[in-house]
Amino acid sequence: MSTIPDFDVTLNEQPVPAAERERILADPGWGRYFTDHMVTIQYDAERGWHDARLRPYGPIALDPASQVLHYAQELFEGLKAYRQDDGSIVTFRPFMNAARMNRSARRMAMPEIPEELFVAALEQLVRVDRDWVPTADGYSLYLRPFMFATTRALGVNQPAQEFTFAVIASPSGLYYKNGIKPVTVWLSQDYTRAAAGGTGEAKTGGNYAASFAGQAQAVANGCDQVVWLDAVEHRWVEEVGSMNLMFVYGSGAQARLLTPALTGTLLPGVTRDSMLKLAPDLGIPAEEGKISIEEWQAGCESGQISEVFGCGTAAIISPVGAVKSADREWTIGAEPGPVSMRLREELVGIQYGTRPDPYGWVHKIV
Ligand SMILES: *Cc1c(COP(=O)(O)O)cnc(C)c1O
Repeated sequence: MSTIPDFDVTLNEQPVPAAERERILADPGWGRYFTDHMVTIQYDAERGWHDARLRPYGPIALDPASQVLHYAQELFEGLKAYRQDDGSIVTFRPFMNAARMNRSARRMAMPEIPEELFVAALEQLVRVDRDWVPTADGYSLYLRPFMFATTRALGVNQPAQEFTFAVIASPSGLYYKNGIKPVTVWLSQDYTRAAAGGTGEAKTGGNYAASFAGQAQAVANGCDQVVWLDAVEHRWVEEVGSMNLMFVYGSGAQARLLTPALTGTLLPGVTRDSMLKLAPDLGIPAEEGKISIEEWQAGCESGQISEVFGCGTAAIISPVGAVKSADREWTIGAEPGPVSMRLREELVGIQYGTRPDPYGWVHKIV
């Protein structure tokens, strides 16, 4: 039996005119423009998921006592739709995002959404707004599914009963407009992103709200992004900004990849998982482990660590060129490294259909 309800479709009678849309798609930036439509699906304890709609993009009316506004019961996802050379439009591993949203939902005491319904919502939106998927090389349509508690109640002793799931879409250009340039990162020793038993592995807005002060501190210290360390010893490296971190030990035929293991405080990235699978196929052994800031610094100084990069859907990879903190500072490299770029090329090739897709990760929509 299908769990997918019919979407009630109301088309936007005033879509962005084609010429204006083309102008936006020529230089969309990131997260600044939105397509003509959105999806919303309602949930309540009695009816489950219902009232699935595709409708014009626009404001959502909320009761001022909605729980999300007071207690941040919210979660989100992020993935992209890519236009391939043959004109088809695809997404990448959308069922992995669906499964992750449901893991986030369990942690945040929110309802799970059937994976098929999650993917159907993406498909609905991308089909109707297909002209918003850019054609330029490396551009894409960023998809943002999210869910929030709409129960009208200030009491917290009763779990929320009503929720809205929505999907919006935003055209996205190249993350690095002028070529990929390594960033400088700040080791945050004052702030923590996540502690054991907390919400670090859930993709929830509260983790971001808690990170903005650390990011501001990084910028105040002349850095681009903040590196999050473990909450107990402030030594073990966890993530960079909103990306997972990868360390390349050795080089050439000896190169191997290490990424911090998923201890419960890290967000399990789809990009991270994909790199862990692709690297060995390219002859680069990959493992999950533990790395301290002392090991990171010593490894760079001895030359044992040759490249470091963040990875996530938005940037794909973001090389780290230098590291700073209140009491130490070291460099890695002024140019993106060959292993970082090789992995990036492989992943992007699969997403845009210019390389074989050995794991069946590409999901065709149109
Ligand atoms: C979303 C996110 C990532 C990257 O996940 P991808 O699925 O690869 O985009 C990493 N860290 C944090 C904190 C995130 O929110």
